[in-house]
Amino acid sequence: MSATEGEYLHDLRETLRRFVDKEMPRDVVAQWDRENRFPREVFRKLADLGVLGLTVPEEHGGLGRDIVATMAVIEELSKRSLAVAIPYINAACYAGMNIVECGTPEQKASILPRVVSGDMIFAYGWTEPDVGADLASVRTRAQRVGGTITVNGAKRFCTGAEESDYLYTLVRTGPESERHRNLTLLLIPSRHPGVRIERIHALGLHGFSTTDVTFDNVEVGLDAIVGGEQAWNGAWPMIVGPGLDVEKLEVAAMALGVGAAALADAWSYAGERRQFGKTISEYQSIRHKLADMKTQLHAARLVLYHAAGLAQRRLPCSGETSMAKLLATEACKAIALECQTIHGAYGYVKEFDVERCVRDAIGLPIIGGSSAIQRNNIYKWINRS
Ligand SMILES: Cc1cc2nc3c(=O)[nH]c(=O)nc-3n(C[C@H](O)[C@H](O)[C@H](O)COP(=O)(O)OP(=O)(O)OC[C@H]3O[C@@H](n4cnc5c(N)ncnc54)[C@H](O)[C@@H]3O)c2cc1C
Repeated sequence: MSATEGEYLHDLRETLRRFVDKEMPRDVVAQWDRENRFPREVFRKLADLGVLGLTVPEEHGGLGRDIVATMAVIEELSKRSLAVAIPYINAACYAGMNIVECGTPEQKASILPRVVSGDMIFAYGWTEPDVGADLASVRTRAQRVGGTITVNGAKRFCTGAEESDYLYTLVRTGPESERHRNLTLLLIPSRHPGVRIERIHALGLHGFSTTDVTFDNVEVGLDAIVGGEQAWNGAWPMIVGPGLDVEKLEVAAMALGVGAAALADAWSYAGERRQFGKTISEYQSIRHKLADMKTQLHAARLVLYHAAGLAQRRLPCSGETSMAKLLATEACKAIALECQTIHGAYGYVKEFDVERCVRDAIGLPIIGGSSAIQRNNIYKWINRS
């Protein structure tokens, strides 16, 4: 990284920190979590900072593709609340980056400027009741007759569907036997006739709820095919392409933010809480835990930003991104639980933010490809190289 790039990232982080302090105070963020409410008014203000344009080319109103800076934004927002970080990902990465990589010129012209202005959010409809890691087995069907595509099926854990403009939906468009060659991505308007959305009550990741989505004879035109008519049955390369690498990094960046937040709180608490006549940070067992956690986070940060640099330069990085996702999310989960322990009984009550960090941290190794799937990827990658 050059000195100018380093300065740019430093300034970007400072801007984000000021934004978080002003727009996302702790008591307000706790309320979003309690009410499971999407703070759209705060999300929109991200457009004023320009950060929604970090995945969008200048010709469409963005700042140009900058994966490293995008990860820094996700990390800084996640230090305070995933209720803004997750919609940022669903807009900048899911809508912005995916359409830049896979969209038709018309889709780019209509969607990308609205990503930059904070008026376009996608929800990802990939997982189904019977389909988790094995995405090539999706059963939601789309049939094409003339210029009309009819969709029937069900998606599960579709985060942000209630608040989204489009459901970025993976559908089967041919016989199941041809698994990888009969999948298509569709842009289905979230409030279209035949679309039903129902909230799922999850342990954490509140603020941008996850949902069940049902498609009952939903009709869209051919312009809903991501990548245009020639991309009918052509979704698989789009799914396993650069988008997947960046998706792993997005979750890793959230994990860094949540882990750093939990650790900062535990560090302060340990310096203030007195037992047996001294602060608990004076006990070696506590200060060693703090030092170990700081070290784990530092290692995860280096692996994440190394992989983000590779992704930025469009170099092969499926192994490095899997390692970043595995390391950061597992470290975050372990750190959040350890920080809760350092808080004693106070880590178990809602008045302390570490309680939310634990609930959020537990979800991160699951989403965006579980830790087991990342280990499988890393093993295959090593065997290939
Ligand atoms: C809060 C939340 C939000 C989510 N948001 C979205 C979203 O917006 N869009 C979306 O499409 N999905 C979303 N998901 C779904 C998420 O991506 C899936 O949960 C994830 O892909 C795992 O699928 P599954 O839960 O069905 O687990 P399964 O795939 O059924 O796996 C169950 C267990 O088996 C293990 N396992 C599975 N296959 C293997 C294997 N080959 N080798 C070793 N172990 C294996 C897994 O690691 C896991 O421990 C969300 C989930 C949650 C909890």
